[in-house]
Amino acid sequence: QPLRVPVSEHGIDRRRVSRHAIKVCDVLQENGYEAYIVGGAVRDLIANAEPKDFDVATNATPEQIQPLFRRARIIGRRFQLVHVVFGQEVIETSTFRAASSDDQTKDEHGRILRDNVFGNLQEDAARRDFTLNALYYDPATETVIDYHDGVADLKQRLVRIIGDPVQRYREDPVRMLRAVRFAAKLDFKIDAATGAPIKSLANLIENVPASRLFDEMLKLLTCGHAMDCVRQLRAQGLHHGLLPMLDVVLEQPDGERFVELALERTDARVRVGKTISPSFLFAALLWQQVHTRWEQYQKKGEHSLPALGLAVDSVLDDQTEKLAIQRRFVSDMREIWFMQPRFDRRVGKAAWRMIEQPRFRAACDFMQLRAAAGQVDSVLAQWWMDLADANDTERAEMLEDVA
Ligand code: ATP
Ligand code: MG
Repeated sequence: QPLRVPVSEHGIDRRRVSRHAIKVCDVLQENGYEAYIVGGAVRDLIANAEPKDFDVATNATPEQIQPLFRRARIIGRRFQLVHVVFGQEVIETSTFRAASSDDQTKDEHGRILRDNVFGNLQEDAARRDFTLNALYYDPATETVIDYHDGVADLKQRLVRIIGDPVQRYREDPVRMLRAVRFAAKLDFKIDAATGAPIKSLANLIENVPASRLFDEMLKLLTCGHAMDCVRQLRAQGLHHGLLPMLDVVLEQPDGERFVELALERTDARVRVGKTISPSFLFAALLWQQVHTRWEQYQKKGEHSLPALGLAVDSVLDDQTEKLAIQRRFVSDMREIWFMQPRFDRRVGKAAWRMIEQPRFRAACDFMQLRAAAGQVDSVLAQWWMDLADANDTERAEMLEDVA
């Protein structure tokens, strides 16, 4: 039997709950279905963090959900769910699922390849990753349904996996990264039994498809506590193989400084609610490698620009194999990198052409990072930043001054 935790204990303030998510639950319940707000939003509301988005779980199937709402579309092929749209807000509404225990749906390491069977509420709770992510809030009664003592773990500030840790990590190694992320983001501890097997299972990350790894890494690096996450990853031995970029970077002192600066800047932006660009972030994380190889090619006698081209290609080749950085990000990263040597010249036509580049602003920001890390003259970096901020008249004056 699950715990039914009353509002006096979980303390969720109804005014902080998305009215659209409440609406989705109301409509489903009026039509005779079970429906709850679930997952990250319930966790964050109880932990007094700001929920990113609201998800609903129900025993209605996608075909039953869709006709109940004016703007709702079924998405996903493997496992379908419904996006119920209210203006800017999308409420992701999914049907209770069960984890299939059938061995045929797993690979030789025990990783789950398919988990697409419907289930009941209890099964849906059991297939979730951590106790604090398996809480169901019923807006009608303001009760939280808790099968795995998630509310108690939240109060104790503990990240605890549901079930046997080794088995759950084998099923989905990404859960190891998620444990680190939630602990860093909420400033919680990882429960001892949950943390214990991570070091020895870290290499299972290698079996995860690159695209999933990329999604999860992006969440980790943009959660507002990236620096803590990266420190934790390293402490848990999770940075090897997981991120070829961190492998290399975190082992050379000057590279570390650069990455630290990049992550601190990212964290600061996320915390004040600014958007961050994945291309900028990955360009920064990989820069040290690019920089080193760039110098190597120049020592071999290549000119600066062709040497940079070779360095960029070789770094991207190494990375995309494992991390599958999406194509649209890769082209932005290239632009940011290729503009760097061009910042050395601040005269005339060349400068005007630079300003017109779509990634000029990002490339300028990037140069600030390099200046902070001592790689370029900070006066020069500031000059470009001022140029970026200036209007056309001011720009003309600035360029005349240096001519
Ligand atoms: P965030 O605030 O970062 O979005 P979240 O908890 O909502 O955090 P999601 O990745 O959006 O994280 O996942 C939503 C929910 O789905 C989780 O709360 C958890 O219950 C479940 N879930 C997600 N990933 C896994 C996983 N790898 N294994 C088991 N359950 C998972
Ligand atoms: Mg979420």
